[in-house]
Amino acid sequence: MQLDDLYRRVIMDHYKNPRNRGKFESDEAVTIDLNNPTCGDKISLQMQVEDGLVKNAKFLGEGCSISLSSASMMTDAVKGKALDEALKMAENFSGLMKGETVEFEYEDIEALSGVNKFPARIKCATLAWNALRKGIEQSQKSE
Ligand code: ZN
Repeated sequence: MQLDDLYRRVIMDHYKNPRNRGKFESDEAVTIDLNNPTCGDKISLQMQVEDGLVKNAKFLGEGCSISLSSASMMTDAVKGKALDEALKMAENFSGLMKGETVEFEYEDIEALSGVNKFPARIKCATLAWNALRKGIEQSQKSE
């Protein structure tokens, strides 16, 4: 898979030094477990939602560099954001995977733009974002 050098560096940095990797001690978090059987990626996303904000987010997972770097970026990007902003980001990320030009306030995410040329890997990149959508849905139900 050929990705632009700079983009590849950003992805590998998140893969090797994942942000927000871990688990919350308290049970005041929504937990979403998702996997991507085509690649063997697994993610367990935890979100603390308060007053309509993603107060904090963490994840555990195993899989390829695309899926785990995406989870690292996503959790970093949505922290402190309102739920509708986080959903908008997930929407924008879907656009990015369709080859649309999208800018993110959290610029590292744009490093994943090249993935849209590799249809088999799109599911890797979107796994964390799908978990985010589910997490938001669940936290809205429980309010
Ligand atoms: Zn994968």
